[in-house]
Amino acid sequence: MKYKRILLKLSGEALMGEQKFGIDPQRLEQYSQEIKKVKDLGIEIAIVIGGGNIFRGITAEESGIDRVQGDYMGMLATVINGMALQSALEKAGMFTRLMSGFKIEQVCEQFIRRRAIRHLEKGRIVIFGAGIGNPYFTTDTTASLRAVEIIADVVLKGTRVDGLYTADPEKDPSATRFSNISFQEVFENGYKVMDMTAFALCQENNLPIIIFDMNKPGNLLKIIEGEKVGTLVH
Ligand code: UDP
Repeated sequence: MKYKRILLKLSGEALMGEQKFGIDPQRLEQYSQEIKKVKDLGIEIAIVIGGGNIFRGITAEESGIDRVQGDYMGMLATVINGMALQSALEKAGMFTRLMSGFKIEQVCEQFIRRRAIRHLEKGRIVIFGAGIGNPYFTTDTTASLRAVEIIADVVLKGTRVDGLYTADPEKDPSATRFSNISFQEVFENGYKVMDMTAFALCQENNLPIIIFDMNKPGNLLKIIEGEKVGTLVH
């Protein structure tokens, strides 16, 4: 197998499926099956889940909610998604732990790095909720930071697009996809992979990122088996 320990980043929006808000149970089940294929190979899996399907701090300001308050609401939204994902993974027969960036003792464990690594070694899928636990950050940054902390081999950014393009392929039909690109090239051309903080963390720590279409069955497994899927940023 090409990778032994992975950090999978799933956006909150991905969980909406065809809906306009919330969590689509079918999508959740589909993702669980994709994750199980990889888990069955003995791969250690950590997941960072976003919260954009429920709440984003940045949009809170528009409705008159203080930004910091909104960010905490966004972090709580990621915990809700994490709980839904945890439930779906367990239903599919996997063992999981949900760890939070801040204390919510009745619902999940607090993130403790050594404990997270131990869970992974024991074959549990670790879901990181509540981001890094601080406002003004994103779940992309959480993905990079946690990946570095748990010494993951790669960050797998599962999206609904099959990689990084020269322009938005949904708007510009002449856009072309990269199969490989360096951190430097992404930076120089201002391509949008992750926000700057998230991106810089991966670059500084030599942590490769693969952007791929999570909605296409078998893609996650192919990546683990070393097949070229999506765009590798290295
Ligand atoms: N958030 C935060 N700190 C973090 C991670 C997330 O304040 O470390 C808040 C922020 O308001 C963000 C929201 O949680 O808008 C949901 O996360 P994000 O937008 O990254 O989710 P995604 O786009 O992946 O669904």
